[in-house]
Amino acid sequence: MQQATSNGTVVAAAAVTRRYGSGDAAVDALRGVTVNFPRGQFASVMGPSGSGKSTLLHILSGLDAPTSGSVTIDGVALQKLDDRALTLLRRKKVGFIFQSFNLLPMLSAEENVELPLTIAGEKADPEWIDEVMASVGLDDRRRHRPSELSGGQQQRVAIARALVSRPAVVFADEPTGNLDTRTGAEILDLLHRSVADLGQTVVMVTHDARAAAASDRVVFLQDGRVVQDKPGMQVGEVLDTIRSLE
Ligand code: ADP
Repeated sequence: MQQATSNGTVVAAAAVTRRYGSGDAAVDALRGVTVNFPRGQFASVMGPSGSGKSTLLHILSGLDAPTSGSVTIDGVALQKLDDRALTLLRRKKVGFIFQSFNLLPMLSAEENVELPLTIAGEKADPEWIDEVMASVGLDDRRRHRPSELSGGQQQRVAIARALVSRPAVVFADEPTGNLDTRTGAEILDLLHRSVADLGQTVVMVTHDARAAAASDRVVFLQDGRVVQDKPGMQVGEVLDTIRSLE
């Protein structure tokens, strides 16, 4: 197994296990996952259905707790935090992008982007909002509601919303899953740019070999374990690896 380098780690999981249920009905979704994500890396997580991808994403982002093992974000051990501190840490350090965009329909594009700041009781800095809206190419769509935007534009709003609080890490769950190939490629470019321009760290779960190959590194899960972890993969190599795991 190849291990990518891990200088300046932003997210670290050490010997993480997650068991659902107990006794005969117990399911071991993660069986000892140790993985580090360095600052400024765009990483993908792949694996067959049921291999533990969603569970890992939930645990890395503090939405779920491991049965054993530990997770740190920006050097803070999540298991040591109470619920309130965990919520605050997530708000400050973690951005999310979902397959289904998850925008609020009654708010404009700009209001959706500002929402994480509004919830945190922070005043949006107009220049930063301008920069974020411009960087996702939505300058001329700021007052539109989600229903007035294409799928690709809605995902751009979701990306801007994830970036607005300058989080340590952005977790993306199948961000291109609802988009056609061309629009999906544009969204991947945008994620890449956030890594290159803002030094953002992105961890993306995907089934799409092309999306994974567009990232810097692919971590493969099988039966709750990391079975391969490799930088700079080509599409064909990703497809071959996935086939070998299914
Ligand atoms: P993936 O995202 O790779 O499809 P998941 O993390 O969703 O995998 O699931 C890993 C394993 O854990 C699967 O066997 C799944 O059935 C099981 N699992 C996931 N969530 C739950 C849950 N809430 N209760 C019981 N089993 C679960």
